[in-house]
Amino acid sequence: MENRLPSIVNYQRATMTNTLSLFPTTYESSRERFRGYLPAIQKMWNKAALHQHVMSYDNSLTIDWIYSPAAEKNEKVLVFTTGEHGVECYVGSAMMHKFVEEYLPKLDPRTTGFLLVHAINPWGMKNHRRGNRDNIDLNRTFMLDPLFDSTFNPAYDRIHGFLNPPGKLTNTFFNNLAYLFSLLWHVSSMGMKNFRSALLLGQYRHPNGLYYGGRDMPEETRIIMDLYKLALHDYTQVLHLDMHTGYGPRYQMSLVNSALDNNPSNYFENRFNYPLVVAATADEFYAIRGDMIDYIYGLKQRDYPTRRLFATSFEFGTLGDTLFGLFQSPRVMIHENRAFWHGTSNEQVHAEAKRGFEELFNPSAADWKEKAVKDAERAFEGILNAEGYIQPSA
Ligand SMILES: [Zn+2]
Repeated sequence: MENRLPSIVNYQRATMTNTLSLFPTTYESSRERFRGYLPAIQKMWNKAALHQHVMSYDNSLTIDWIYSPAAEKNEKVLVFTTGEHGVECYVGSAMMHKFVEEYLPKLDPRTTGFLLVHAINPWGMKNHRRGNRDNIDLNRTFMLDPLFDSTFNPAYDRIHGFLNPPGKLTNTFFNNLAYLFSLLWHVSSMGMKNFRSALLLGQYRHPNGLYYGGRDMPEETRIIMDLYKLALHDYTQVLHLDMHTGYGPRYQMSLVNSALDNNPSNYFENRFNYPLVVAATADEFYAIRGDMIDYIYGLKQRDYPTRRLFATSFEFGTLGDTLFGLFQSPRVMIHENRAFWHGTSNEQVHAEAKRGFEELFNPSAADWKEKAVKDAERAFEGILNAEGYIQPSA
């Protein structure tokens, strides 16, 4: 008995280090690790290959993907995407690693192909920003008929001045107070629901603003759209898992389904044996224009109606969904965005703005990482079983 306790403690310590080491600290190390998956994967899927798209404006940045068809018959494909919002890829890459180590080997290579995408937005990952180099939120750019209508979401104009204060970011305390009063004023004059919708829906008119969708289709979007077309074209069944952070309760990852999936959220909670599923509607989560998951559903409905598709986002909550969290996340985004465009009065203010932003999308706490990985495992297990990609574990 005497030996028992220390060995359990050691074991716990070992798993703890293990979990923490899943989370990369740089874009380059994460990409290196991803590229290194190939040899092991090829032992099961000998046609697997690594592909890269070199970004047109910087050849040190690439979108990387590993694709393999099934060995005998292309029935099912598993699509796993990370880093549509660059800074969220540090968590996304950790989940990808877990998936590749523990779940990919359980798929059946004879009938199942896969597509793993590392850092849809490599510039954002490298520079710890959400948008791409042009401040474009890629999750506002996935439209079936690309129409960047600048008059869309006119309500954003009413809050633009509040979201984009001019001039350097100076004293954080003073700015927080000003933020709070301004927020209360906007929420009380517009209503919370309208405020959130104006903020989050996407806008195509203010290139320095939040949730900006751009004026043309970004190259990242074009590359990814082609990959989704290939998946729907070549397989009868597509399962797509997309990794995100920032929204929802801090210690319970949310599965966010497309509003275009007709089944209610509680149906999926039962089906996947997973406690928190929401649909991306104004009531359950928030509505978005140009959403990537909506795009793949739209593509299926329009061009591949006979395919079976389930696509969802893993949303790892960070600041929480209390009133505090809801007020806090726009504040952090406004400060970071202002520091980016206008600079800060000194290095300390800059560091504070960046730290707040990092905690919103890539939390540092070990207990958060532990729980996030546990939630992901439970969701992988539930979804892969329900969709017939793996057999129930004995
Ligand atoms: Zn995201």
